[in-house]
Amino acid sequence: MELTERYVFDWDRIRNKDGYHIEYSITDICNRNCACCSHLAPLAKAPSFVGEQDFERTVTILHKLIPDAHTFWLTGGEPTLHPRFMRLLEISRNIFVDNYVGIYSNGITLEKYEEDESFWRFVKDNGIVWAITCYDKDRAYFETLFKKHGCINNLAILHGGKRFFNLTNYSENQPITHEKYVKCGWERSKINVRNGNIYNCPSAEFAELFNGYFGERLKITNNDFLEINESLTREQIDAFRKEVPFCGQCDLDKRYKKIVDSTPSERKISEWACFE
Ligand code: SF4
Ligand code: SF4
Repeated sequence: MELTERYVFDWDRIRNKDGYHIEYSITDICNRNCACCSHLAPLAKAPSFVGEQDFERTVTILHKLIPDAHTFWLTGGEPTLHPRFMRLLEISRNIFVDNYVGIYSNGITLEKYEEDESFWRFVKDNGIVWAITCYDKDRAYFETLFKKHGCINNLAILHGGKRFFNLTNYSENQPITHEKYVKCGWERSKINVRNGNIYNCPSAEFAELFNGYFGERLKITNNDFLEINESLTREQIDAFRKEVPFCGQCDLDKRYKKIVDSTPSERKISEWACFE
């Protein structure tokens, strides 16, 4: 399935028009260490690589429930650190036959594949979209690399990676209202999958890493996620697009207020939380 035109990555479209984007986190670790990382990768103590069989089982169920997904993505952490990430992409392509299949990446790993023709053939023949954040190399490097291998349609530059906002603001005693959920907006068309569960946002999805690093400060209840199993229905997934108990530990008013240059994380609690 070659892409006949370039994949368009557009936040407004993703928020409002595309339908579901499924983002499957296949590892918690990353080869960068960004302050305020919204997936909390600097706090990961273990790779947590998803197993191939678990992945295939879960993706099969997801496809049955959401055959109309716009794009099925692998994410992390840095998903290319998973030793079997290409096999996982292949499984995704075989199951989500009629959908876009993509991978988010900071692009560092691509250096290893610069001259690897079989890698680029795989990317091209399977129509794999690469959503890259240009942290360490500029946009021109990626444009040239993908063009050289006939894969320019597969490249979707995500953003420049030079500045970060604090997207995660763990807090205490915050309101849990539908208005707040609607206002936080950025995840509305996303299905965030980690460890066999669906979450409404990365704040809840990766809260376990925060607890593992700083101590059990955040409460994650059974109502904060949906377990992906054979009895899950599309109606349940659609109905889950709402506020959850976890929203009571999220302070939207402080979100986007802190802007940091792309600097290394010092793993301070203040990078992710309002409390000390
Ligand atoms: S590259 Fe992305 S996942 Fe990795 S630490 Fe930075 S923001 Fe987090
Ligand atoms: S915890 Fe609730 S309010 Fe906060 S980002 Fe997630 S869904 Fe939005």
